Amino acid sequence: MSVNENTLPFIPFTRPHFNQETIDAVADVLRSGWVTSGPKLAEFESELSSYFGGRPVRCFANGTATMKIALQIAGIGSGDEVITTPISWVATSNVILGVGATPVFVDIDPVTRNIDLNKIAAAITSKTRAIMPVYLAGLPVDMDQLYSLAKQYKLRVIEDAAQAFGSQWKGQKIGSIGDLVSFSFQANKNLSTVEGGCLVLNTLDEARLAEKLRLQGLTRQGMDGMDVDVLGGKDNLTDVNAVIGLQQLKQLPTFQTRRAALARQYFDAIRTGLKVMNLDNLELELPVENFTDSNWHMFQIVLPLEQITIDRAQLMTELKDLGIGTGVHYPIITGFTLYQKLGYDTADTPIAHHIGRSILTLPLFPGMADKDIDRIANALLGILKKYLKS
Ligand SMILES: *Cc1c(COP(=O)(O)O)cnc(C)c1O
Repeated sequence: MSVNENTLPFIPFTRPHFNQETIDAVADVLRSGWVTSGPKLAEFESELSSYFGGRPVRCFANGTATMKIALQIAGIGSGDEVITTPISWVATSNVILGVGATPVFVDIDPVTRNIDLNKIAAAITSKTRAIMPVYLAGLPVDMDQLYSLAKQYKLRVIEDAAQAFGSQWKGQKIGSIGDLVSFSFQANKNLSTVEGGCLVLNTLDEARLAEKLRLQGLTRQGMDGMDVDVLGGKDNLTDVNAVIGLQQLKQLPTFQTRRAALARQYFDAIRTGLKVMNLDNLELELPVENFTDSNWHMFQIVLPLEQITIDRAQLMTELKDLGIGTGVHYPIITGFTLYQKLGYDTADTPIAHHIGRSILTLPLFPGMADKDIDRIANALLGILKKYLKS
């Protein structure tokens, strides 16, 4: 009897991993009588600070709140412009709009799929206050170039490093260098607290402001042992989430090694498959083969849509029918109705327009088996071959 592809287990594009120790640690917090922000949060922030070379770190309820608070700390608001990329999770530009500022979208580099640093200078105006780069799939931008631009034009940098926990630049961890660096601990991220985020700050003054902004603007000073002197929200991270983060931090090296090994297998399996299946002329674009800086948050390919007769959605459906989940990270932000109504035009960033339509995320998570990679590569190339334009 031959093996039917359809009976093989479904591989999602990602899956979080929480071990028994983590489950036990959560149970301990739930039984302890203190479940919201408290000692476990303090411990997690202290471990994160050590991880980032001693810089101050504060945690928040999610990555979106983290970025919002970073913008508030940088004093960005109404009338200000922030330069960012149109290929990101929409949270990036939503938070800019949320503080009353204007996102200015600069096109991306087709190889790294990150904001094209060479195009930033032309987008700077007298209203520009900050650059908000995104490290898509965990691949950082050229940090030397980014910070020399920021210095030259006197701009703040708010790094949307949501996907880059564990990534590096010239041997230094992303977050251990730079200005304000924001991470997300959402379920799909390399380190997860289910939901959560953290911000790496420059000074203890900034850290104190971050503490106020995440809890109603509250200080422990004043007549009644409390005062409110800035407008804050309710963006604190709980001890339940923090204890998950502490456990994940311990497992991070193992997770990272596994992700890199799986990524290497993808390069091998896809390149070998292209040869074996006589698909040498297929213009399938692989990610940058960077095994020193990237944390391999995702493995993304760019589809040769001009060479095949189906679109990305149909390819995804066929892969799903073979038990393989994929994702789109991301459609171009300026194509969303809200952004269209605000007057943005996808044609202003043609490379992002193209990548947004043809990028595809293949499954990559530490719990995957080696044999999953060959199965995915064969399924993908088989479908592409079936629909090749003659
Ligand atoms: C996940 C993510 C965010 C938002 O983080 P949340 O924790 O989901 O709020 C922002 N930007 C990027 C690039 C992300 O991947």
